[in-house]
Amino acid sequence: MQTQQKNIDLANNIQMPMVGFGTYLIQDEDAQSLVHQAIRAGYRHVDTAEGYGNEKGVGLGIKAALAELGISREEIFVTTKLYPGNEAWGQTPKTYESTIESLQASLARLQLNYVDLYLIHAPFAKTERLNQWKALIELQRQGKVRAIGVSNFNEAHIEEIKAAGLPLPDANQIELHPWSQKPELVSYLTQNDIAIIAYSSLVPLSSWRTVAGQDSAKTEQMKADGVDSNSPFKVMAQKYGVSEAQLLLRWGVQKGYAVLPKSANADRIRQNIELFGFEIDEQDMEAIAQMDRGEGVAWSSGDPTKEV
Ligand code: NDP
Repeated sequence: MQTQQKNIDLANNIQMPMVGFGTYLIQDEDAQSLVHQAIRAGYRHVDTAEGYGNEKGVGLGIKAALAELGISREEIFVTTKLYPGNEAWGQTPKTYESTIESLQASLARLQLNYVDLYLIHAPFAKTERLNQWKALIELQRQGKVRAIGVSNFNEAHIEEIKAAGLPLPDANQIELHPWSQKPELVSYLTQNDIAIIAYSSLVPLSSWRTVAGQDSAKTEQMKADGVDSNSPFKVMAQKYGVSEAQLLLRWGVQKGYAVLPKSANADRIRQNIELFGFEIDEQDMEAIAQMDRGEGVAWSSGDPTKEV
């Protein structure tokens, strides 16, 4: 298969490549080499966050890849996220001012002048959510971020922005895969022209976050389902001559979502971007639509879109 890429149009003519390289659980010291490898393999979209503690390594990886491949900064779409602070976890929520400072600190670690997309990582800061959003609007006005969005926000969180008369997010990054399809939220986002970025697309795999310490709310039953040799994803993947991971990622892009596969393995990094040489047929898409199990499992504290 040949590496082809597709984009999603955000407002203001900004093009977001549909396949991004995810970096959660990649240590700072490993991020440089893995991000470099990913860009070499054809990724033009990299997803990091203040909370991942790896922005320095991610920035070094981008720098090394640009130098090696002779491509310009404008050809790479970089997303980072504000860690909002959560009072319920004893943290101080970020204010308008500390949000502005957080982006400055992220840019310094990344060694970049701007990021392409800045997201509020989760709707945790109830009392400061709107102030954080106003700070993102200001950062966009200053040209330090090209597009702004949210992550793990539900309909009510976005309605809060609407009710305040503020511009709506360009994108919402949420957990989406066949076991967590969130049909109501997806249709709300589509109606409001908010681009959808899917994370943790590979949850149903038996190899998903198996390293000790990579905690999530994936249940023992789900782990067992993922190793079943009759797993419906395995059967479908064989039919299309692709891996189960490619099948799961293709489901996301076929639904119109951007996807963010993370891997620390060179072969998987290359494989996870090869998604545009096959198509899941209508019958299989319908079968997958019946597999929804509800809430996401990527966060050990539960699906953050359930926050009030
Ligand atoms: P993914 O769905 O990308 O799955 C990663 C896991 O699957 C790892 O254990 C990886 O192992 C394994 N894997 C990767 N490729 C393959 C393959 N081809 N075959 C078999 N196993 C494979 O999980 P994430 O939870 O990391 O989500 C992706 C990205 O989304 C994150 O890295 C982050 O950027 C973003 N994210 C955002 C969140 C948010 O709240 N906004 C929350 C969670 C994620 P190995 O590395 O050994 O290959």
